[in-house]
Amino acid sequence: MNAKETFNLEYAPAPESTKVVSINKSYGLFIGGEFVKPKSGKTFSTINPANEEHLSEIAEASSEDVNKAVKAARKGYEDNWRDMPGKQRARYLYRIARQIQERSREFAVLETLDGGKPIKESRDFDLPQVAAHFFYNAGWADKLDYAFPNRQVTSHGVVGQIIPWNFPLLMAAWKIAPALATGNTVVLKPAETTPLTALLLAELIQDADLPPGVVNIVTGAGETGEALVNHPDVNKLAFTGSTEVGKRIQQAAAARRLPLTLELGGKAAHVVFEDAAIDQAIEGVVNGIFFNQGHVCCAGSRLLVQESIAEDFIARLKRRLALLRVGDPLDKNTDVGAINSGAQLARIQELVESGVAEGAEIFQPTCELPAKGFWFTPTLFTGVQQSHRIAREEIFGPVLSIQTFRTAEEAVEKANNTPYGLSAGIWTEKGSKILWMADRLQAGVVWANTYNQFDPSSPFGGYKESGFGREGGLQGLSPYVRETVGGRS
Ligand code: NAD
Ligand code: MN
Repeated sequence: MNAKETFNLEYAPAPESTKVVSINKSYGLFIGGEFVKPKSGKTFSTINPANEEHLSEIAEASSEDVNKAVKAARKGYEDNWRDMPGKQRARYLYRIARQIQERSREFAVLETLDGGKPIKESRDFDLPQVAAHFFYNAGWADKLDYAFPNRQVTSHGVVGQIIPWNFPLLMAAWKIAPALATGNTVVLKPAETTPLTALLLAELIQDADLPPGVVNIVTGAGETGEALVNHPDVNKLAFTGSTEVGKRIQQAAAARRLPLTLELGGKAAHVVFEDAAIDQAIEGVVNGIFFNQGHVCCAGSRLLVQESIAEDFIARLKRRLALLRVGDPLDKNTDVGAINSGAQLARIQELVESGVAEGAEIFQPTCELPAKGFWFTPTLFTGVQQSHRIAREEIFGPVLSIQTFRTAEEAVEKANNTPYGLSAGIWTEKGSKILWMADRLQAGVVWANTYNQFDPSSPFGGYKESGFGREGGLQGLSPYVRETVGGRS
């Protein structure tokens, strides 16, 4: 049954206007404060995954272009940013934060057009968080002596940063804001399917009169990323993306003893005890896995529900699934938007097929999907065994694998039975149980009776193969500084 049959209600379309956005036919690389043509002469297309329409032609940076960007960042560092008083760096960051707030509708619509996420998420989650990260880090820029008391710290120099396509502008903010606050300059590489908001940010940075070379943005795919990772004049690397690529980057960094932070994949357990507030837990579980189509590294992709309530809980969850509105990401009523790319859709399909083939039981509500674009019906699996690929591998899509448990000890054992360790969720009425569980769950973030709560002052990051280093909070600033003794490094 879907919403229409249950309540006999029709949702009138409520599309957000795209008039606020103007997309250039093509974009160059943002190097030394200017948009420049790539020396490579190569370009690639970015599309809207909701309808497969071409949006813009994007420059593909070669290693020569990356070299130019690193040189510009070095110059920006030595000529301006390194020795600029923190108070003045803060002013620039506040200016960027305020301009993001002023133009947030434009950024939100562009984010949704380029990546397929629902407008209500880009508008109400991504953009407020982006501004908050710039404000928060601006606040630290002139207070580094308090951030690192009794330590003499200095910036690294040029920072190379590579980000994924699931929260394109937010990941750019998580990377750029703390790097600039601590006096580094950056070369950032956005993901190839979602470069547009980073390029709009480059325009905003020009408007904010940031000194040239402090922020450089090089677009391209894996090869461009590799050129940045291997550039000998980069002093620190930060990466968010898949564990596979993260491992390769760690190897490259190890050879040069380069400081590195990695935010990688996840396979979070979302644990619901029999004494939980069930209706709230259902909403939490739905938010945990269907937020941003499940393209979330901390997605609660493994539901562990206590056996005593499992039947009722799963029945309610199925009813709730049928009420999710899947479709036009620009519609303000949409809950689940488009899958970010054809390649990601194929990965999701392949893993879901493996779940069926390995014997798990699939449930999908009836759901009309648009004819064009990349779509996947919200899905859950019951009868999941620990050996199934859908229990072990990150799907990065709107797919929930459900297992049951009897005791808290069993829940912990199952939750930790994964190479990942980014996040976890607990639902129970008992505070003591929350603390007992949180002590034992191997996860960088543990949410209790809520999920997907973020704040720039709160550190986020992983255990095990989910990576190392933290973003947000003081813990997120410290990877961007190095300690000096007696004024020497
Ligand atoms: P990916 O790791 O390949 O891409 C992330 C970023 O790294 C992109 O900017 C990409 O261009 C860049 N990149 C790719 N190869 C590189 C290389 N050799 N050197 C340097 N940079 C490189 O992720 P993907 O292929 O887009 O997605 C694959 C899977 O990764 C997904 O299905 C999902 O499971 C996972 N993923 C996780 C996150 C996360 O936030 N943890 C984000 C994206 C994808
Ligand atoms: Mn795109």
